This record gives sequence, C-alpha cells and structure tokens, in this order.
Amino acid sequence: MPRTPARSFLVVLLVLCLLLTGSVVFFVPHGSSGALDSVRSTLGFEGPPDPDLTHTPRSERPEIPAVADLPVTPAPAQTAANTDPCAPSAGEESANQGRAVYVIAESIQLRAGPGLDCPIVSSLPFGQELALAGKPVTRDGIIWRSVVVDGQLGYVASSAVRTLNAQATRTAAIPILMYHGIYEEGSRFIVTPEQLEDQMAWLRDNGYTSITPTNLYDAIYHDLPLPDKPVMITVDDGNRSDLLFAEIVTSYGFRPVFFWPNYTELTQEEMRYLDSLGEVCGHTVSHASLAQLSWEGQYAELAPNKAWIEEQLGHPIRCFGYPFGAYNGMTTDVVTHVGYDIAFDAWGATSIVGIVDPIHISRKEIEGTFDLETFAAIMTHGYS
Ligand SMILES: [Zn+2]
Repeated sequence: MPRTPARSFLVVLLVLCLLLTGSVVFFVPHGSSGALDSVRSTLGFEGPPDPDLTHTPRSERPEIPAVADLPVTPAPAQTAANTDPCAPSAGEESANQGRAVYVIAESIQLRAGPGLDCPIVSSLPFGQELALAGKPVTRDGIIWRSVVVDGQLGYVASSAVRTLNAQATRTAAIPILMYHGIYEEGSRFIVTPEQLEDQMAWLRDNGYTSITPTNLYDAIYHDLPLPDKPVMITVDDGNRSDLLFAEIVTSYGFRPVFFWPNYTELTQEEMRYLDSLGEVCGHTVSHASLAQLSWEGQYAELAPNKAWIEEQLGHPIRCFGYPFGAYNGMTTDVVTHVGYDIAFDAWGATSIVGIVDPIHISRKEIEGTFDLETFAAIMTHGYS
C-alpha cells in the first residue's frame, strides 16, 4: 500500500475535525455556558455530548451494537406508492367499490396512476362502463378515481364519469342534427365544408359531446348516463361526401352517424372505415317514400337494406331513418318486425329521452342556407 494517500487521508480527516469543532465554537460565544445550553436545547440535545472516540482508550469506549443487533424499524406500508406516484395504491377500499360508472365525455384516457404524468393505458369511449375500485385521489388539480375496466386497474378523471341517475337521463334533451351532402356549392340540402367546420367548432367550443343511436337507445331503455350537453350528428343518403363529412366531424372530436340506402356510392372498404368512426343506420333499399307502400312493399325496402349493410359491415345494425321522414300506419310494425330498435324522423321537436318514441325520434335538418347564428339558436333554444 502506498503511504502518501493514507497520509493525505489522515490530514483531510484532521482538517475536517478542526472545521467541525471550529464551527461549534463559532456559534457559541466564549464563556457563555448558558448560551451553549440554549443552542443544545434548540438542537434537541439532551445530556452530555458524545465521547470523543478518537481520544478514548479502546477499553473505555462504549460498546457499539452490531448492525444485526439494531432494532428493525418496519418500512411504511405505502413506501412503494409514495416513491412512485403512478403506482397503483393498495388498501384504499372505497364504500363504492365495484359500483358501475360510465364515461360521459367524448373519450377519456385511462392512466396507470393518478396524475397527468402517469402513463396512458388506453382510451375509453363515451358510454364505457367501469367499476369503481379505491378512494378518490386529488393530484394535478384533478380528482382521480381508481377504476377497473376489462380486469385492468387504472385511473380516470372523476369529472368524466358518472353513476346512474335515471332522473338526469330521462330529462335530457337531445339535439339531433341531419345533414345530406358536403360540397363547395351550398344549397338547402348541401352544406359547404366551411359551414360544417364552423358548426363543429361551435359545438366543440360550447362543450357538446356527441352520442350515437346506441347511446340513445341505452339511455331510453336502461337509463344509462348521457353527457351534460349531448348532440347527435347525422348524415343521410350515402353520398361520397360522407368521407369529407366524417373527416371534418371527427377532427372536432365528434362521432358521425350515417344513414345509407343500397345505392350508396361508398365502397365496402369506405363503409367499414366510416362505420368504425361512429354508427351506421339503414335508410331503405331505394330511398322510397314508405307512406305510399303496403306492408309488404315497406318490408321489401327495409329488410334487404338492413341485411345488405350488415353483410358489408360484418355486424348487426339497430337504427333506421325514414326517407323523406315519410311513413304510414303500418310502418312502425314493419320497422320493429325487421328488427330495428330505434328509428329517426326527418323533422320534429328536440327529443326528451324520457318521453321520446324510440321509433320516431326527431331530427333537425341543418340547411345550407343557415348562418352560424341560426345554427347557434337551434342548439341553444331547441327546435320544433
Ligand atoms: Zn334520405
């Protein structure tokens, strides 16, 4: 072993000892033992200072317990959760444990922990059912609820979920907007892309959340929660502009609803893509006016249209829209016989969930001649 580093070490140790001693002297005025007691009291010292082990013979030194003999202080149970704020915390059972809540926002993020910096586990859509797990946690100015979805534990913002409240659901008013085509040259049935952009921006800026026919069905029949400001955004007839319509509507965070006859200009691939963005409903084979047809004639318009769309999409559809909003006394029977759960008119007053006829739900045509003030008035004051 070289001697120089060992000597240097001793010198450093000596200097440190001097510095430490000096610092104590620095804080204690000479000849003032009362002041020393005061400093000790302030620092929490009780009794005489520790013996200076470096100058005490080994035999007189107090026995230092071996590490193994030291009493073990149990670590706090929440150590892991305290050090990692995103780790799920255990043992925080809530009185509401297992109670169902539903997503009432357009979509929310399920996070691994209660904080905006915690990893996103998945995105949950409107209407998704979750089970409450632990107690609420407040962090980042948000109240977080721990929830279980599909067997996975995570955290969501409390304001984005709601328990069942039948009264709130049944009194909800649903504006249901009806569009037809989106093209540059507007007319009564044609809204320009700029108009649609302005209207979707207005809905977004005013806090609306879109719902689909299935969401409305669940509200009507099962009292499932609706958003505070629901809106349904529909487009009829399967024009090619459905693609542009969907692009604009989804870019504002909303889900589009499509009503298609069999002569739609969309390819199967496009139909499946649009279906994935929202929901698809039937609209008869040939866009016939059902008011003029017999029971058999109406069935021949509805059943093959439903079967064809379901074949194109690969799953059942449950909603229907009356072409021209027209029907006669037999139509309701045909609609239910074919197997639709919910059907939409092309006119009428704002629908209140608790009193709406599920087979005749009103819609409001948004005409190309409407300016944004007219649109805002329809949304704000309802329609009739
Ligand atoms: Zn139509």
